[in-house]
Amino acid sequence: MAIELPPLPYDRTALEPHISAETIDFHYAKHHATYVTNTNNLIKGTEFEAMSLEQIVRSSSGTLFNNAAQVWNHTFYWNSLSPRGGGDPTGKLADALTKAFGSIDKFREEFTKIAVGTFGSGWAWLVQRPDGSVGLMSTSNAATPLTGADRPLLTCDVWEHAYYIDYRNARAKYIDSFWKLVNWEFAASCMS
Ligand code: MN
Repeated sequence: MAIELPPLPYDRTALEPHISAETIDFHYAKHHATYVTNTNNLIKGTEFEAMSLEQIVRSSSGTLFNNAAQVWNHTFYWNSLSPRGGGDPTGKLADALTKAFGSIDKFREEFTKIAVGTFGSGWAWLVQRPDGSVGLMSTSNAATPLTGADRPLLTCDVWEHAYYIDYRNARAKYIDSFWKLVNWEFAASCMS
């Protein structure tokens, strides 16, 4: 079956002023869409054609893995943001973050360190470990927690294409904006 580009969960202008419509036009409509096109071209006529996107990510390598994982990571990223996001989490997610990091502010500080410190292109993640606790992960290029035992809860894309239009090279300023858009409800819904 063909892999599809899921609709953006909000309007292209909805994340302004933090993430511009122009960034969305490139990041979603060009970068994300291109990973979808590439994946479909690469699976054509192969055993991967019968698999779900998750199965492809878990069982492929090389160029196909890079494109398929980037499709999955980007969809997860768009869901990690919301025009009604920001503020502090509540409920079981807040409890898990406080238990792991001491406070929500401390979690934001540690996640920001991972996001700013990820060398080159990659992703910063909040994950839930098999024992139920939450923790941080940094992945390079297309790498994704989906291939391991940890369950992704939240991600921030730190590839330069995520922020160069709005923030030039200032990744830290983009991360500040990420906190104004962060979709805690989505993260909580991903918990086991
Ligand atoms: Mn990206």
